[in-house]
Amino acid sequence: MAEHDSEDYGTGTRLVGAGRRAEWTGSADHPGAVVNPPVYRASTHLYPDMAALRAHPANEDGKFYYGRRGAPTQWALSEALTALEPGAEGTVLYPSGVAAIMGALLTVLRPGDVLLMIDNAYEPSRAMGRGLLRDFGIETRWFDSSDPAAFEAAICARTKAVLLENPGSLTIEVCDVPALSAIAKAHGLTVVLDNTWASPLGFPALVRGADIAIMSLTKHVGGHSDAMMGSASAGPAWYRKLRVRAQGLGNVVSPDDAALMLRGLRTMGLRLAQETASALAVAEWLSAQPEVAKVMCPMLPGSPGHAIWARDFTGGCGLLSFVLKGGTSAARDALIDALALFGIGYSWGGFESLATPVDPAPIRTASPWPLPGLDAGDQFGVRLSIGLEDTADLIADLARGLAIWRTAA
Ligand SMILES: *Cc1c(COP(=O)(O)O)cnc(C)c1O
Repeated sequence: MAEHDSEDYGTGTRLVGAGRRAEWTGSADHPGAVVNPPVYRASTHLYPDMAALRAHPANEDGKFYYGRRGAPTQWALSEALTALEPGAEGTVLYPSGVAAIMGALLTVLRPGDVLLMIDNAYEPSRAMGRGLLRDFGIETRWFDSSDPAAFEAAICARTKAVLLENPGSLTIEVCDVPALSAIAKAHGLTVVLDNTWASPLGFPALVRGADIAIMSLTKHVGGHSDAMMGSASAGPAWYRKLRVRAQGLGNVVSPDDAALMLRGLRTMGLRLAQETASALAVAEWLSAQPEVAKVMCPMLPGSPGHAIWARDFTGGCGLLSFVLKGGTSAARDALIDALALFGIGYSWGGFESLATPVDPAPIRTASPWPLPGLDAGDQFGVRLSIGLEDTADLIADLARGLAIWRTAA
């Protein structure tokens, strides 16, 4: 099966074949006997004799050693993710997306260093800067990702890394990763990029300038809202260092969860394409509604960073936000409560649609909110994760929600 993941093939073909090594999907006398790698539940790995135990295998996937270093189920997932990320030498798995971000930052930073973080980063990433990183003597400073000159001006002698997220959380603003990465490289910084929104199917992060590409697999790869995991993929400069640091931190992922992620991966291309098309239709409809001040959906012309999205991305996703024209927080809550087809909950990227409030004002410190061009009252946002329901049903639901909002606002 390994030939299915050749770079000569299209994405769908590679998603089907990735990670399905014949030795992981069968026995010595019948390699490739089953389609999926079995779930190897194992802490202890047994050795045939003392000579084998003494011959410590190299620290790499594909060699049984001890449960913490995984077994074929986890190896197949990490090999599949590496095959999908152009420029990657390997992929480290973590128990969550947050663990992947922290694992990468603790690999590239030392006490005394300064980290520059994009201002619209995922809030738990910002919390790392205010919390654990600060406690370990690493200083975090936030910058406005729409202004490469401001980013360059913020670099000092102690700055060692930058954490980007493209597009940023909540406001889904796209930034110019090639431009920011070029500046970072010129100053010797390591670029860590949270690529959860597009995944490598829509944004080849390492090719665009990142040194380490992070994903919360909880979102698109899992795709069914039933498992959590994270990943960091990198080229030769960082992959082995990431791996050793992750092992030092004791990161492991369960084989059952790895099997769920592998299952999700096979249909991820189809789900992303459908969710992207549906999200764009919802975004177009929303932008024509008088109650809506701004739609933030990179695929939509006029959205923040749309031109950069069109230049740098090969795909989109179902996650978008919109800002209501004036109104109150309570009216916005009434809108969300009125939706029948959107669950209220964090996370996204599952087969089912979700809605959550967007309130960046108390979070952002380096960039304006409301967005430039909007009135001061245009500050109450809603984030939608568009799932696999019929688009017309979702739009009808949103129309009901806006009608309730009009009476409450
Ligand atoms: C959800 C999310 C994470 C964290 O992932 P978990 O698996 O929930 O820990 C990181 N970055 C982004 C952009 C996310 O949306």
